[in-house]
Amino acid sequence: MKERFGEDGRLIIPLNKRKRSKSKKNENKIRYVINEAYCPKGCNIMDSDHPVNGYPGLKIRFRRPDHEGIFIISAIEGDFDKIVLSGKLQMGVKDDLYCPYCDTLFERLTSCNCQPDADMVVVGLIPKLDFNNAITFCNVTGCGNGAFVKSGDILRHIRLQSL
Ligand SMILES: [Zn+2]
Ligand SMILES: [Zn+2]
Repeated sequence: MKERFGEDGRLIIPLNKRKRSKSKKNENKIRYVINEAYCPKGCNIMDSDHPVNGYPGLKIRFRRPDHEGIFIISAIEGDFDKIVLSGKLQMGVKDDLYCPYCDTLFERLTSCNCQPDADMVVVGLIPKLDFNNAITFCNVTGCGNGAFVKSGDILRHIRLQSL
């Protein structure tokens, strides 16, 4: 995976090549976009100031021993692009994920099979945390494991034109 910097110097991690070519034939596939996302305490973490691939993303604080920062992850299903607002991510390294507003740790749903310490973290789609209305994704940078647990009304069907 190559890294590049956005116009304003922020690091953008693009979709990896394999994923891009695989999704070629699925270009008209309908994907979900999250309209709402909340921390476990109910803070709204959608950030329209930093759209990722055209949609407001999810603002999350990441933290590992001796390092922390903030990134915005894409609200589009299967899209692992991120904008790093501060700090640095390291490929293959796990970060604990926190609410950027109240600093509550996002809960772990299960472990990810990509490496021994990896967690699948849950982000709720309604203010009161409900694992059935949530998305889950791995907290290791570069791991593409993630899923939409359930499609509620909050998810919007869109046809992606240009990913
Ligand atoms: Zn919060
Ligand atoms: Zn993983």
